[in-house]
Amino acid sequence: MKKPLFSLEGKTALVTGSSRGLGQAIAIGLAEAGARLVLNGMDADRLAKAADAMRSQGYAVLAEPFDVTDEAAVVAAFQRLDAAGVEIDILVNNAGIQVRKPLVEFQAEEWRRVIDTNLSSAFFVGREAAKRMIPRRQGKIINIGSLMSAFARPTVAPYTAAKGGIKLLTQAMAAEWAEHGIQANAIGPGYMLTDMNEALTSNPQFDAWVKGRTPSRRWGRPEELVGAAVFLASSASDYVNGQIIYVDGGMSAVL
Ligand code: NDP
Repeated sequence: MKKPLFSLEGKTALVTGSSRGLGQAIAIGLAEAGARLVLNGMDADRLAKAADAMRSQGYAVLAEPFDVTDEAAVVAAFQRLDAAGVEIDILVNNAGIQVRKPLVEFQAEEWRRVIDTNLSSAFFVGREAAKRMIPRRQGKIINIGSLMSAFARPTVAPYTAAKGGIKLLTQAMAAEWAEHGIQANAIGPGYMLTDMNEALTSNPQFDAWVKGRTPSRRWGRPEELVGAAVFLASSASDYVNGQIIYVDGGMSAVL
């Protein structure tokens, strides 16, 4: 019998920044579709706890703590996976940070940290994954962009620049790697309920702005990204390449 269209049975997915938030929700969704997981985060204790919680749910999980902005650490992590015989079929470049302040107040170090965490990381991890996917002639890369891949808002300039870069890096990956059997696509979440937005959800004015501007009139829940992620990770999307799917309650349709 043919496998269901969205099945990820037999596949292994590396999700960066999956110790919490959107990455964790996406990882659980991929595991529910059948994938084995390699989880990643910076904080090794938090990651170990997240991995234990997923194992207790019956999912097959490895934990690989490394800093996605550190090229040498990324290379070393892939070498450890090689040595353990782990082949990555699905990569979700999700790790990210946000710093909010007026553009004129950003210092160079902070600018670089935001660009490195949200954009350079997708290059480092994507390159190492693709080197291994190309000879196997298969692979799914999902880069987490944002509404900010298409629109700017005040006080998040480096984040917006990085997320705009994610959209075109995704297109560049598709342009170079499609002929090798790899699909690279992006997801652009809207305003989602995670730690990243803690200060914003508890600010009544910001909360009202989000609800007022989002046609769905609410914040998104992390698990609401799972449908797009499973689609882009599965063979259902084999002829979809270089695209960004906005999962934003309709906000980008009306901005
Ligand atoms: P959270 O702050 O909740 O989680 C961030 C995750 O990224 C954590 O697992 C964190 O690990 C990890 N991380 C951060 N820096 C690094 C690093 N240098 N190396 C490895 N891991 C790192 O964020 P969200 O879940 O909200 O965001 C996830 C992604 O979604 C980001 O790319 C974000 O920009 C994007 N996004 C989020 C939106 C939202 O509304 N929340 C909207 C649009 C896009 P640790 O736990 O160890 O710190």
